[in-house]
Amino acid sequence: MALTSEPATPRFRSGAGRLCLDFMRTLRLRGSGDATEELATVQDLADWVAQLGPYPADLSIPVPPAAVLVRARELREAVHTLLTAARGDGGAATCPAAERELLNTAATAATPVPRLDETGATVYGAEDPVGAVLADIARDAVMLAASPALAQVRACSGPACAAWFLDTSRPGNRRWCSMETCGNKSKKSTWRTRHATDA
Ligand SMILES: [Zn+2]
Repeated sequence: MALTSEPATPRFRSGAGRLCLDFMRTLRLRGSGDATEELATVQDLADWVAQLGPYPADLSIPVPPAAVLVRARELREAVHTLLTAARGDGGAATCPAAERELLNTAATAATPVPRLDETGATVYGAEDPVGAVLADIARDAVMLAASPALAQVRACSGPACAAWFLDTSRPGNRRWCSMETCGNKSKKSTWRTRHATDA
């Protein structure tokens, strides 16, 4: 008898094209009345790092203290503030000093360290795996805000989605954070609208 088990669906959304943008999405529907916190507990934060961090799948990620969860959420909102400013007319210079300093400070912490193992693979590790990924996120945001790639950051066209992503498509006209979710929903509702009109 064959055991058929579906591959587990990753719990957190990824694929925005930049680590800092994936992290921003842990507050779903930011700015709307339906905003949902995906990092509700310290375990959620450890799980996010386990899924999206660079570490081997079998590395157990220590659950951080509660203060780190508070810091992680502050960091996330600072990323959003910086990138919102950077995408605006005044550019990254209009980012408030408090958020800029928060990100600059977070970026000074140690990031995950690559090690070449005996099989020739690169394996990442860190003394503080959660803190190291938060430092990576801060560095990613600081670098993105002042880079040409910023022009490729788009907001998803999904009406019930506030995700941002990096549009690396050649024509530069990607509209959805993901074809599997928002893109498909849109295709289906277009189909329904068209067929309703036909009927
Ligand atoms: Zn979307």
